[in-house]
Amino acid sequence: MADACRVDVFTIFPEMVEAFAAESLLGRARARGLLDVRTHDLREHTTDVHRTVDDTPFGGGAGMVLRPEPIFASVEAVDPPRPLFLLGPGGRRLDQPLAAELAASGGFSLLCGRYEGVDDRVRTHLCDGELSIGDYVLGGGEVAAMVVLEAVGRLVPGVMGNAASGGDESFSDGLLEYPQFTKPAVFRDLGVPAVLRSGDHARVARWRRAASLARTLEHRPDLIAARGGLTDDEAALLEWFRHESEASPGEP
Ligand code: SAH
Repeated sequence: MADACRVDVFTIFPEMVEAFAAESLLGRARARGLLDVRTHDLREHTTDVHRTVDDTPFGGGAGMVLRPEPIFASVEAVDPPRPLFLLGPGGRRLDQPLAAELAASGGFSLLCGRYEGVDDRVRTHLCDGELSIGDYVLGGGEVAAMVVLEAVGRLVPGVMGNAASGGDESFSDGLLEYPQFTKPAVFRDLGVPAVLRSGDHARVARWRRAASLARTLEHRPDLIAARGGLTDDEAALLEWFRHESEASPGEP
């Protein structure tokens, strides 16, 4: 079997990340040796009795900043898989292609900030890059690390039961996924599109492709624009889909 994808997480709250990574899909991936998550407590590398990891910012201002010494010491003691990403709102935004890229790599590491942030020498002289999970500010990098772990972990080869299930979900080809339905066929007078119960696999595939396009066009036109608009075939498929939906109403 291939080596596990190893992800080292540096944090002052290792229990948070450990507890999360012990459950469900990530927990099973770890148990099966596909994913190797290692958390490291930055406080273990403090030298004072109070195990202080933060201090006031030079230049004044509110809040505290994580000191460089425990972070450098912690990372240097482990020599973790690289790249080592500092989690922060200023970083490259995580998206599905980046998650897939990280899942295919042998491993990487994450550093969680706290308070007002991290001494910038950590970013410039210890980390290899900066990673953000979105344009908002969290209180710390731990939740961001969990987001990265989960988005990446499920794409590590072998982790998802059905290898195909990563292939046609949202963002994998620049579109949102088609709507899914399960039993019962009628729930509170709400049916499901008849084509999905037809048993005709080619029609089901066509419907799903069309529904995926329609949904993306409605909710995320920016994704359609990023692909360079609709091809003639796609426009025709959407036309077919609209007729199909009128003939057999279901929520697209
Ligand atoms: N003062 C900083 C925010 C610090 S928030 C600023 O204005 O940019 C404290 C920590 O939370 C950060 O060091 C970072 O590790 C984490 N964090 C906050 N928002 C994040 C985001 N969008 N993505 C990833 N990590 C984030």
